[in-house]
Amino acid sequence: MSVWDDLQGQAPVVTALRRAAEESAPTHAWLFTGPPGSGRSNAARAFAAALQCEQPAAADRGCGRCHACHTVLAGTHADVTRVATDKVTISIAEVRELISRAQDKPSTGRWRILIIEDADRMVERTTNVLLKAIEEPPPRTIWMLCAPSPADVIVTIRSRCRPVGLRIPPVDDVAELLARRDGVDPETARTVARMAQSHIGVARRLARDPEARARRDEIVTLPLRLSDVSGAVRAAGTLVDLAQADAEASTTARNAAEKADLLAALGLTEEDKVPPAVRSQLKHLADEQKRRATRSQRDALDRAMTDLSTFYRDVLVLQLGAHSDLVNGHLDATLRQFAEASSPETTLRRIDAIAEARERLSTNVAPLLALEAMTVSLLS
Ligand SMILES: [Zn+2]
Repeated sequence: MSVWDDLQGQAPVVTALRRAAEESAPTHAWLFTGPPGSGRSNAARAFAAALQCEQPAAADRGCGRCHACHTVLAGTHADVTRVATDKVTISIAEVRELISRAQDKPSTGRWRILIIEDADRMVERTTNVLLKAIEEPPPRTIWMLCAPSPADVIVTIRSRCRPVGLRIPPVDDVAELLARRDGVDPETARTVARMAQSHIGVARRLARDPEARARRDEIVTLPLRLSDVSGAVRAAGTLVDLAQADAEASTTARNAAEKADLLAALGLTEEDKVPPAVRSQLKHLADEQKRRATRSQRDALDRAMTDLSTFYRDVLVLQLGAHSDLVNGHLDATLRQFAEASSPETTLRRIDAIAEARERLSTNVAPLLALEAMTVSLLS
């Protein structure tokens, strides 16, 4: 076991980061980019763990067993600070606080590490403040920024960071990981890896939770239940409810796992009485989890839209006779029937309608309104 285990299908990235962790003076600013689910924040965290790892031999860094590795991965290492946001933008105050932290010497670790998970969510004024800090780094400070793509970060910052580009792992790699690490049977592993379009976290949840799969199927087959305007309006409501249920289910499971990990890292079990010294760490975790809840609802809705559009994507593949695997291979017969009853032009228009609704959702429009407009336009 090592901190790199979860970076499936990212061999070149792992090689580069391992090598950097062995250096006595690694680059002080990094930019991790990759599509959602490719694991850019996991990669940053694994790298941070390797940099702080207590193994005496540089080649063993990132062991995944020492106290430093554990606490970095659990988010409790004193010298690794992480900023993620549930808001549309990261505030200038948050960035200023981070910069002042960057001035502190590391307390126990080798480095003071600052991770900004949503570096694309900063207005220009905030970015300029950050730029100054990255230009003149205090010794032993390492910045790690994460964003969907390099273009999401202004060029002046980008040019000062060493780039780390994660790719979407191939379906087979994701299936292999699920089978090896989570004990999922190979056929299910392949099915869910395809359904999740290689998003590792989503695939794992679909494999483990039959209810999550049932919810996904209900979302994907929604087009079959669109017959008139009132049905379309109902379908929009269903979509919101399903996304909400999904957000709650995934948050509950993840929160429990994180708490168990933290307790284990502190050498405690769920039954032990929590010593006062540890209480603040648990509280910190609870705060972070609460903060994340809002964001996970929005993410679930976005995920639902992605799932829904895979239905039309598959229909289009069949209509065009393209040689490409169906994302929803388990619905083969249904998809074929649907494909025959409409034209590629109609399908493309429907895919556009979903894209447009996603766009509107990202601007904080009331979700139900955006979805009703979408389901009604899917009728024609
Ligand atoms: Zn270690």
